[in-house]
Amino acid sequence: MALLQPNRTFLSYREVSAALLREMGIEVLLLDIDNTLAPYEQPEPDEQIRLWLQSLARAGIRAAFLSNNHGERVELFNKTLALPVRYDAHKPLPRQAKKMMKRLGGNRKNTALMGDQIFTDVLCAHLAGIRGFLVPPIVDRTDRGTRFKRRMERKILKRYYKKHTDAPDIRVGSPLTKEYIKT
Ligand SMILES: [Mg+2]
Repeated sequence: MALLQPNRTFLSYREVSAALLREMGIEVLLLDIDNTLAPYEQPEPDEQIRLWLQSLARAGIRAAFLSNNHGERVELFNKTLALPVRYDAHKPLPRQAKKMMKRLGGNRKNTALMGDQIFTDVLCAHLAGIRGFLVPPIVDRTDRGTRFKRRMERKILKRYYKKHTDAPDIRVGSPLTKEYIKT
């Protein structure tokens, strides 16, 4: 179960500022794309993503994409950003995360992976020995498989919130996430 516990949860990637990353000792940030930075249907990064990535770069934080999606989607999303990228990353397998960490000169202490899925992103981070940050999915699906997964995630996050009583509740469907997704 510890492998599935996020180190930290955030309501959105936008809350993860360069200053906060610095404070946490993070210098290398591996990023999931789909539903973490943009919905599946959004082919290119918007201005907010661009500005956020620029602010990280200015602070000397190296970011890279680590996506399970296919090359075409990831390359198009990254076209104007030109970050280091791995598509078909097979998360939660940690191999590509470790490779990317090394490529960016990171180590287990100063690297984190941020994504919207516990069983993919958080698990991958922990198998790679790095920190896992969790955000709620930007657009949630409502099919049976996803509903089942969300139920499992809620159970896992229950334990997280017992320990982190002051953390915002990012569980899908919580008033906070509903409100956040609206804005
Ligand atoms: Mg995702």
